[in-house]
Amino acid sequence: MSLVIIGSTALDTIETPFDRRERIVGGSCSYASLAASYFTKPKIVSVAGEDFPREIIKKFNKKGIDTRGMTLEEGKTFFWEGRYGQNPNQRTTLKTEINVFQDFKPELPPDYREADIVFLGTIDPELQLDVLSQVKNPQLTAMDTINLYIENRKKSLLEVISKVDIFFGNDEEVKKITQENNLIIAGRKMLEQGPSFVVIKKGEHGVIIVEDQFISGIPAHPCEDVRDPTGAGDSFAGGFLGYLDQVKSFEEKDIRRAAVYGSVMASFTIEDFGTDRLMTVTQSEIKKRYKEFKNLVSF
Ligand code: AMP
Repeated sequence: MSLVIIGSTALDTIETPFDRRERIVGGSCSYASLAASYFTKPKIVSVAGEDFPREIIKKFNKKGIDTRGMTLEEGKTFFWEGRYGQNPNQRTTLKTEINVFQDFKPELPPDYREADIVFLGTIDPELQLDVLSQVKNPQLTAMDTINLYIENRKKSLLEVISKVDIFFGNDEEVKKITQENNLIIAGRKMLEQGPSFVVIKKGEHGVIIVEDQFISGIPAHPCEDVRDPTGAGDSFAGGFLGYLDQVKSFEEKDIRRAAVYGSVMASFTIEDFGTDRLMTVTQSEIKKRYKEFKNLVSF
């Protein structure tokens, strides 16, 4: 099978109670594809500017990430700056500069158009729609978004939501879209808008999956040392969809396991700044943490 991921490749400045890092590699596409690369060979659609380190693209390729759909343009890479306080679930966005994304017109290579799974990572919903329209007959489509687009691009965002099978969102986003305070009712309302599954991310409390026939919960890996929560959501989605692409099956048991692998990959991401941990984690560390998860949830 094959997995196509669209999203941002970014340079991020991040401040947490531990440290401050300037212009480190980030972006929804970077996190999601690195997390997915431990299960499959994701193909990415994104754009970066002249200031994006070229050796990072080589590192992506070494991890099996296909970057033919990523263009390099004159100008600056997407830039995001955020700050976290003591509560890792709460962050303040200080700056967003879309830079080369301003004029980005994604053009998918022919083999990308045959993708079985498409992940529309956080980016302007118009770009998400554009990519979706270029893929011929995907078996599974999924999306993520953030408050900025819920507030400023609601109409096109709702159009994307109506076309995908899985919606990934945090509790605040799902409540905001549906104008509903109860999370389960909000999840069900999201189902009415199109998706077959709504995966509600609740930070350190894990995720809830809402589907027509079942609701299930997966805790987050108990992590004592959260150094930088950035990218946890994208890594969750990358691990989740990368696993489904590997097992080539979307039954309920696969979806539940995918959520555990998503949590495993997110738990590695937050152990270090930016994408550092996703660059170095090993298959045996992933297997070990998956086993620890089994013990955590069995009763
Ligand atoms: P997450 O913590 O999973 O929500 O993802 C954080 C990543 O999202 C950072 O690396 C940012 O560069 C990226 N990001 C922040 N704002 C936006 C935006 N408006 N569009 C696309 N990506 C963004």
